[in-house]
Order: sequence, then structure tokens, then C-alpha cells
Amino acid sequence: MTTGTRTVRVAMPAPLFSSFDYSVPDGMVVPVPGARVRADFSGRSLVGVCTDADPPHAHERLKPLTEVLDDHNCLGQEVFDLATWLSEYYHHPLGEVLHTILPTSAARGADLDVQPETWWRTAVEEARLERAPRQRALFDHLGRVGPRTAAEIRAAGFTTAMLDALVGKGLVEAGDPEPVLDNPPTLTAEQVSAVEALGEPSQGFSATLIEGVTGSGKTEVYLRHIARVLASGRQVMVLVPEIALTPQTLTRFKRRFGRTHVLHSNLADGERLQTWLKCRSGEARILVGTRSAVLTPFEDLGLIVVDEEHDGSFKQTEGLRYSARDAAVKRAHALGIPLILGSATPSLESLLNARRGRYRHVHLFTRATGAPLPSLHVLDTRGHSTRDGISNPLVHIIRRHIDAGGQVLVFLNRRGFAPTCLCTACGWQALCPRCDARLTMHRTPAGLICHHCGIRQPLPAQCPECENEAALKAVGVGTQRTEQGLIELFPGTPVYRIDRDSVRSQQRLEDHLAQIHTGEPAILIGTQLLAKGHDFSNVTLVATVNADAGFLSADFRAPERTAQLIIQVAGRAGRAGKPGEVWIQSMQPDNPVLTSLIETDYAGFAAVELDVREAAGLPPFRPMALLRAESESSAAAAGFLQTLKQRVSGAEVYGPAPAPITRVANRHRHQLMLLADDRGPLHSAIRRLRGTAAPRGVRWAIDVDPYDTF
Ligand code: ADP
Ligand code: ZN
Ligand code: ZN
Repeated sequence: MTTGTRTVRVAMPAPLFSSFDYSVPDGMVVPVPGARVRADFSGRSLVGVCTDADPPHAHERLKPLTEVLDDHNCLGQEVFDLATWLSEYYHHPLGEVLHTILPTSAARGADLDVQPETWWRTAVEEARLERAPRQRALFDHLGRVGPRTAAEIRAAGFTTAMLDALVGKGLVEAGDPEPVLDNPPTLTAEQVSAVEALGEPSQGFSATLIEGVTGSGKTEVYLRHIARVLASGRQVMVLVPEIALTPQTLTRFKRRFGRTHVLHSNLADGERLQTWLKCRSGEARILVGTRSAVLTPFEDLGLIVVDEEHDGSFKQTEGLRYSARDAAVKRAHALGIPLILGSATPSLESLLNARRGRYRHVHLFTRATGAPLPSLHVLDTRGHSTRDGISNPLVHIIRRHIDAGGQVLVFLNRRGFAPTCLCTACGWQALCPRCDARLTMHRTPAGLICHHCGIRQPLPAQCPECENEAALKAVGVGTQRTEQGLIELFPGTPVYRIDRDSVRSQQRLEDHLAQIHTGEPAILIGTQLLAKGHDFSNVTLVATVNADAGFLSADFRAPERTAQLIIQVAGRAGRAGKPGEVWIQSMQPDNPVLTSLIETDYAGFAAVELDVREAAGLPPFRPMALLRAESESSAAAAGFLQTLKQRVSGAEVYGPAPAPITRVANRHRHQLMLLADDRGPLHSAIRRLRGTAAPRGVRWAIDVDPYDTF
């Protein structure tokens, strides 16, 4: 090494637990920690992040940096520290963590220039646009939802030409988004106590679990607290589950506060980067986003809210397998700011934290509108004939509600027409050639689809095995089949299906929702897309078709997940004063999870389930990690885990065991489960294993605090 040449340490986006030293060529500015740099890495020019501008024990003959991209820590110190924590806690290489945190274009080296954005709002109260219905629709949309950017207007299904036309007519104007006149409701007594319990926003770190029944006005409580934080000049981050980020949710924030920024997976790279930069610069005041939004840097964050904190979509299941909820707790703690976790069905993790006094625990027992909570009933389907998933008694119950002018929500957690296609002559089944799974039969459009790997095949006209043309049969029910059955049973009533297949576009979903919101009698059939975020005020009956399936799963979290889903779906009933009913079809009406839910509600169920977990020595009482390996060779994946197992010390090990659906897309998946009494020994055990190179063709990953064991 020539004297005077500077050396820096860089985290490169590579699956390696080491950082790399580079020399800084003469004349190049030495990067500060947190600055992005470009350098050669195994023959490729990659963007990494400087982690140390003065590393000890630098090697000789280092490669030179090719470029320094930033003159500052591009993440800010706090998110830079968060990256280090994520890397240690989830045992994921720092370079890859940093790569995950940076928006795609920033990770590729794009300039971090904030571009000004224009918000468009209505300039007048009324507009006469009889001959331009689409312009009229856009005008009404802006009047209803408040100011939007051009990108958001396009995302809502309008064109720039329509916007330009309205601007030309002076009906829409550019302007700083002011809140729309919004009359916040008078808080209920329970909401007042909740707001009081949250205290002064400036009192440093606190975590509050708001456990409030569906419709109890949790969101209103967040909005009040958010208003106080904004008034103190600080920024706010709100995390919501993937499917809860509905136009309805956003509109509520935008009407109340005006400028609200959004981050979710459907944004274009450029939009994502701009929002990220505006949070970093302090220009964005409120960010509402899904999982990865928790990794956004802020100038002056004053509050984090995690809505529906129990939701599984907060846990990433590939790459950096982090929990956004847990990262939020970590960040609030590091920043010394309050954190609010809200749910009608809190996770057992958060309930235990509340029980142990780490979180404040606030309850909302009644609905804010005064509407009564729906009554829950089990419908024993043993001995009843069912048609397309709907039992005879349920048909009568649905009819009663439709006749009374109500809307009915039928919940079925399985898309497609039927989960199995079977030959009744020879027993042939449509199986996925690449997975250990059956192909799901779809009707619209017709075909056989694997829900695990996505492969599509045409629907065979005859049995491929015995060539019988009449013996192929759809077995089991999916949403498309129940939809068809309901259309036949209730010919005069509109049936709207809402699942991932039917709502490929936001616009289509909004159209459906608009029709549902007219309140006319209708039947809604759908998957958990229906369970969250939407306020269907005229739904008086909620029926679940196949809740039993959830209880049959072997996963240790299955009872918790199923109970949460049932209560969340049930919460859609009777929101606007009309009393609601919930019917749960079951072939196992004596299932203890079901009976405890009905008799003691979610809190009672959770208390029992916590005892079960404690007795079994499972999370949240003891920390868990899964080591997951996959390969085209089943033996190679299992064998590799076996060698890892031999090196585990200080933790209990179970396995290796095949994942419940072992082969997906021709890769065989196995897992090793680690449990310990404390996090310390668990992490030490993993630290000794991480970075182990797997044999050729085997990929492996560490999953700390796994959400499921599939
Ligand atoms: P949650 O988030 O607990 O499901 P929301 O905050 O969405 O509850 O409130 C449920 C419904 O009750 C919404 O339609 C909301 O506008 C209404 N609401 C909330 N608080 C009040 C209140 N204090 N008075 C009247 N209506 C309210
Ligand atoms: Zn056959
Ligand atoms: Zn498949």
C-alpha cells in the first residue's frame, strides 16, 4: 500500500457476511459512512454503501473505487443504524440489507434529487360537465378524495388529457393540498380515554397496544394523535397491511390532513424514490405505507402507527426476512418516540408484551357508531346437503337478510372454481408437474392453475388417463364456484366476487365497491381481500364457508391465524346500526378454538392459546428460528441441514423435516427448527452457522421469528 492512499470499507450487495475494502484513488473525495459508492466486484460494477471511512487492518493491493455517488450518509444515521441491527438480528448480510432499504433506482446509483410535485384540487364547488362524463367523473373524484398528484390521478384510472381539460376550464387548479373540510366526529368516552392514555407525543418512547373491536374507532384515535404530532412539526409514519391500503383508508387520511404520501409495492421506481426522498428531506409530513415503508428515512419522525399489527403481511418471507412491526418497535425505541399498535385481534406476541408491562394496553369494547357487535353462531353442516359450498340452512339465512334489504358477505378463503379436478372413472387427479400440489380449476378464464408456482394448463376435454369424456369432476369449492351457485340461487340479486382474480385492476375494485356502497341488497363473495380496510355499512350477514380448513393446518400459528380471520371477517357485519349476524359453517362445531371464540370472544381465545404456547415452549414464550434449505435434490437439502444440525449448540433443534408442501417449482424444501429459552443463545447458535456455504445447487436461508413454518 502506498502511503497516503486512503482505504474505505464497503458493504456490497452480495450474500456474504463480510465487507470489502477498496482504495480511494488520488483526487477522489473520500466517501463518508453511508455514502453510496461504485466499484468493481467480481468483475461487475456494483453500487455499495461505505460503512467505514477509516477501517483498521486494511489489506494491500486493493481495488480502487470507481465513483463516489453521495457526499453524505444517504440513509441518515438512524436508518444506517437500523440496517446494522436488521443485519445482526435477522442474520442477513449488511450489503443486502442496505440494498433492500434503498429504493431500486437509488440502489442502482440514481441521483437523489427531489423533484417538485404538483397536487391538483378542485377550484370550484360545482361544475357543469354534462357532455364530458369522464371529466365530470374526475372532477367528482377530486372533490371527494381531496388533492392528488398526476401519478395518483392516473393510478385511479383517469388520463392526463382529462386533467388538462379540467385545468384549461379553470375547474381544477394546482395548489398545496389543504385538508378537505372534514368534520371529525365527537369522540366516544372510550376513544377519549384511549387518546388520553396515549399521552403527550413528546414524552419519549412508549408502545401502546390499542385492542379495539372492529369498528370501535381505532383509526379515529390514531388520527387525533397524529394531528397532535403534526402540529408539533414532526413527521408521522403509518404502516398498514398489504390489503388494507384501500382508497377508502387513504381518503380518510387525505381529507383530514391534506398532503399524505404513500408507499406500496405497486408504485413505479421513480415514484417510490421521490416519496422516499421527500420523507428523508422532511417535505412529506405523513407516510402511509405497507411493510417496506418501515425502512424509510425521515428527517424528524415523531410517531409510528402500526395498524392491524397482527397481520402476516408485515413479515417478509424472502430475502431479508424482517418483521415490519418489530422493526417499527425498534425504530420508535431508538428515536425515543411513541409507537401505537392497533388491532381487533392482537398477535399473541403483542398481548404477551402488554401482559408483561412492556406495552400499555388500551381497550375499546364498543363500536364508535353505537352499532351493536354482531352475534356469532356456528352452523353445524354435518347431515345437511351443501351446494357449491352453501349449506341448505345457510341458503335460508341468506334469503332472510336479502329480503330484509340487507347485504350479505360470504367469505371463502380459496380462489378459483374448485381446488381439485378428478376423474370419477379412473381416479386420475390434476396434479402440478412441478409441485407436490393439486392444480386448482378456474372458470373465468378457464384452465388449471397451480397456486404455488403459477403454472397454467388448459382444462382437459377428457381424462388424460382413461380418455373418458364425461367423468372429469370439480371437487371442492372456490370463490368462483360459490359465486356461480349464489347467482343460480338468488337470480334477482347482484353477486360481486372480490378476490385476487376478479380485481386485477384498482379501477375494477373501485367500481365494485361503488356499487356495493349504494347499499342495495347484494351478495359479496370473496377471500380475505374482503376482510380488511373496507367499511361495508349495509352488510347485515357474514357467512364463512370453510373456516374448518384453517384449523386442520399443522402450523403452530394456525389456530391464532384462523381465529383472527374469523373475527376480522365477522367485523364486517352490522356496522351501520342494523344488527349483524355471523354464521360459521363447520363440520367440527365442537372444535375448541371455535367454541372458545364464540363463548369468550378473541380475548378469551387468546388467553387459552397463550397457555397452550407456554406449555409447548413455543413463541412468544421462547424465540424460534427456522433454517430453510431448498434444492432440486431432496436429499441434498435435507443432508445439508443435517450437517448444520450437528454444529448447533445452546439451542434446541428439531428436524430436518420436509416443509408441508415439500416440492414447489421442482425444488424440494426442508427445514430445521431452533428454539431457545432466550434470544442470546439462539442468536449465538445462528451466528456460528451463518455464512456457511451450502453445496452446489442448495440454497439456504435463516428465518428469525418465522410467521409460518411452511
Ligand atoms: P376501527 O379502525 O376500529 O375499525 P374506525 O375508526 O374505522 O374503526 O371507525 C369505524 C366507523 O365509525 C367509521 O365509519 C368511523 O367514521 C366511525 N366513527 C369513528 N369514531 C366515531 C365517533 N366518535 N362517532 C361516530 N362515528 C365514529
Ligand atoms: Zn380417468
Ligand atoms: Zn406448481
